[in-house]
Amino acid sequence: MATKPVVGVLALQGDVDEHIAAMQRAGAQAIPVKRAQELDCVSGLIIPGGESTTVMKLLDRFALDRPIVERALAGMPIWGTCMGMIVVADEVAGLNQPSLGLLDVTVRRNAFGRQNESAHVDLSIPALGSAPFPAVFIRAPWIERSGPGVEVLAQRDGHGVMVRQDRVLGTSFHPELVADPRVHKYFLDIVAGSQERPVGKQRNVA
Ligand code: GLN
Repeated sequence: MATKPVVGVLALQGDVDEHIAAMQRAGAQAIPVKRAQELDCVSGLIIPGGESTTVMKLLDRFALDRPIVERALAGMPIWGTCMGMIVVADEVAGLNQPSLGLLDVTVRRNAFGRQNESAHVDLSIPALGSAPFPAVFIRAPWIERSGPGVEVLAQRDGHGVMVRQDRVLGTSFHPELVADPRVHKYFLDIVAGSQERPVGKQRNVA
């Protein structure tokens, strides 16, 4: 009998419990990850929402940045939500902000402006079926540039808000805050379908 995949949720800051509960609803086990050794127990990693400059500092302090990059380059699927998408991106627009460089995109932080700091949007995501997804945006980033290997799965106001490059997924919004499990299931499909193998692109931790 196939064992359930175990997904890690980076637990340095942000909506960790919500992701763990949502993963369980989607049919997987999920555990918090605070130390590099805990990465050995998981076959996929979620980096949740929060504050990206703080989390980059904490990743450095907890010596987690390099192990995450190494696992990702070895093929472990990673999903960044909101802040997490900023953390996995190659570049943060207009800011000299370090990031893990795992997703060939430029993100703009807080891109939807103050008036839209928090918004519920019925988002069309064809990869998830015809029913719109109830997307919650909270001081959300958008994708300003995406490389040729990046698939834009959803857009809001003409900007990418859900993207995938092989086994790295990014969403500007927070699927862990709604009952609809489709994005968590989508990530689980990536985890289930991935046999870890090098992705063949060497990047450095900035
Ligand atoms: N605005 C935050 C940042 O730039 C992200 C917000 C979120 O994750 N909800 O880091």
